[in-house]
Amino acid sequence: MELIKVIHAELPQIQCGRCDTPGCYQYAEQISKGAPHDRCVPGGKETLGKLNKLLNKNLKEVDIDYGPSIPLQIAVIDEDECIGCKKCIDACPVDAISGSANLMHDVIEDLCTGCELCIEPCPVDCISLVETDNKNSRSESQFFYDQTMYLRSNENRKKRMDSMIETNKKIGDDINTKLNNRNINLETNLNNLRIKILNDQLNDYHSLTDKEKEKFIDDNT
Ligand code: SF4
Ligand code: SF4
Ligand code: SF4
Repeated sequence: MELIKVIHAELPQIQCGRCDTPGCYQYAEQISKGAPHDRCVPGGKETLGKLNKLLNKNLKEVDIDYGPSIPLQIAVIDEDECIGCKKCIDACPVDAISGSANLMHDVIEDLCTGCELCIEPCPVDCISLVETDNKNSRSESQFFYDQTMYLRSNENRKKRMDSMIETNKKIGDDINTKLNNRNINLETNLNNLRIKILNDQLNDYHSLTDKEKEKFIDDNT
């Protein structure tokens, strides 16, 4: 199996970004390129041991500069306090929070990896963490992480597109305003254009040979 995938399989899949990469797959990628493999503090000694074995290295401790650790936990939202600002949804790397603007939000237990990324952005401090023994969310998290990032990149692309359309519309409006201000008489312009086309056709006709003129008349009568 490809080295990145083998390394990735040994990581705890919390997608917390504490290793200074956005998620577990990116950290596996970095390790495969030679980055130190002691930065997954949430994985602790267990993950370090597995990576030592895999890479034939012998690092003794995880680098606590990338800590602190993360226990097996999930986020819980206090529905009475939630103001529906959506900040937690934007922060969650696996789309584990349901709800929409101005409505109360809720955490989907089977998706939440306990990464803690939603805690800090909440303006009313209504998200807390509770211990769990459910590891399922972590085992599937890479799939939900990839899907979330894909949808977000599409959303960003759409926002960029909308902004470009808005800019183009504004430029078009500006040009139209300037043209209107020039008092152009559209009817006169159209008539002039018709006359020019007829003159061009007439000149073309006069440049034909007699035989071609006969054929032209046959074809057009
Ligand atoms: S669990 Fe967090 S610190 Fe460990 S590899 Fe995944 S993203 Fe990095
Ligand atoms: S709900 Fe919070 S703790 Fe759970 S995965 Fe999302 S951001 Fe992490
Ligand atoms: S960040 Fe806090 S207040 Fe805002 S929607 Fe999430 S839980 Fe509710």
